[in-house]
Amino acid sequence: MKNIDVSQLTVQFPLVRSLIALEPLTWFNPKATSLAVGLPYVGLDQRDVADASARLARFAPYLCEAFPETRVTQGILESEVAAIPAIQGALNERYGVEVSGRLLLKKDSHLPISGSIKARGGIYEVLAHAEQLAIKAGLLRTEDDYSKLFSDEFRQFFGQYSIAVGSTGNLGMSIGIMSAKLGFTVTVHMSADAREWKKRKLREHGVIVVEYAEDYGVAVEQGRKEAERDPNCFFIDDENSRTLFLGYSVAGERVKQQFDEMGIKVDTEHPLFVYLPCGVGGGPGGVAFGLKLAFGDNVHCFFAEPTHSPCMLLGVHTGLHDQIAVQDLGIDNLTAADGLAVGRASGFVGRAMERLLDGFFTLSDQEMYDLLGLLAREEQIKLEPSALAGMPGPWRVTADRAWQLAQGWDEAAMTQATHLVWATGGGMVPAAEMEKYLATAKI
Ligand SMILES: *Cc1c(COP(=O)(O)O)cnc(C)c1O
Repeated sequence: MKNIDVSQLTVQFPLVRSLIALEPLTWFNPKATSLAVGLPYVGLDQRDVADASARLARFAPYLCEAFPETRVTQGILESEVAAIPAIQGALNERYGVEVSGRLLLKKDSHLPISGSIKARGGIYEVLAHAEQLAIKAGLLRTEDDYSKLFSDEFRQFFGQYSIAVGSTGNLGMSIGIMSAKLGFTVTVHMSADAREWKKRKLREHGVIVVEYAEDYGVAVEQGRKEAERDPNCFFIDDENSRTLFLGYSVAGERVKQQFDEMGIKVDTEHPLFVYLPCGVGGGPGGVAFGLKLAFGDNVHCFFAEPTHSPCMLLGVHTGLHDQIAVQDLGIDNLTAADGLAVGRASGFVGRAMERLLDGFFTLSDQEMYDLLGLLAREEQIKLEPSALAGMPGPWRVTADRAWQLAQGWDEAAMTQATHLVWATGGGMVPAAEMEKYLATAKI
């Protein structure tokens, strides 16, 4: 890692001063460009997403057996898109800015199995690994009915192998539960900020939970080291995995299909804005990639981060990507937003996606709690704090007329826009825990 000269950096990038001051801010990305220009930098394309989508379809019969709650969607893990008009009114008042388009919530918070966006990438990577092992051993062909994996024979087979991952909580939940169900020995290396109830739930599923007094970066490093010692252990690398990224990306075509069913138009006259909470970057990066492939230049993606953990904004803004951490600036990386407490962004995602993202913004923990309380009050939808990070997005974008005009949208055009806030988690938060969240909201 480079040595960071902070004073020089603030001269070159004045915005870094505002990051250090923990000011909530919005940054529109000058590197944003068309899909045609930006796509080659990703190094993945439509065929890779189609491949992931087909793999998930092959596993659907297995998931129906292993997790009966997924039968309602035939073993496809997908979440609803919900209109949230009441909070739109409440936030127009709170922010003193009128968002005139349509406001929607993507409820990944209520995805089956693990109740967060990690049920996309995390579960997908475990399935991809299991498939590869079983095919190599001659036990499975892609034409087979994968429900046969739900058997003692396969559990014994997978039991010879192990899986490890480092996590702040939700990734561990997805990978832990899925791996244990297949029969793998699975170890989750949990950072200090991980919630007790998540560790307890994992242990109930037979997952080995190793706890650290340090943050996510340390938990990942330790997990990687331990896994390296065991040739039968597969380490799931949240910071660099293309597989994880592709698992998330399938969301793009799914949203397009949901919009078609709902009669929601997306074209040059009807832009789509999507607001995604960002931790290390794989989840929002993969989803944004899939959305770009599905909607082309008519979708505009924004990443949201806590003021105490603005790692992706910092990496992309300075072009230093994973060569800089928020801690290098004296920012503490302490936030109540599970999944977003990441000090150093994925270099892979930053470099792959920096030309395909329209902007970034930060918000305080208290703002997330207030929005959590407002959403519960106005819409009776309960989320975890991190899942609210995207919520101010439509107001941040609407407040900046100059940026809209530069994109070619006047006020009338903005009334035709759809704003999709990606709710990334919270569906499995225990009631007592949720009461504490709600009590923290000052509304
Ligand atoms: C993990 C997570 C995110 C962000 O995903 P990354 O891949 O870490 O960027 C956002 N919200 C929640 C609830 C998460 O668990």
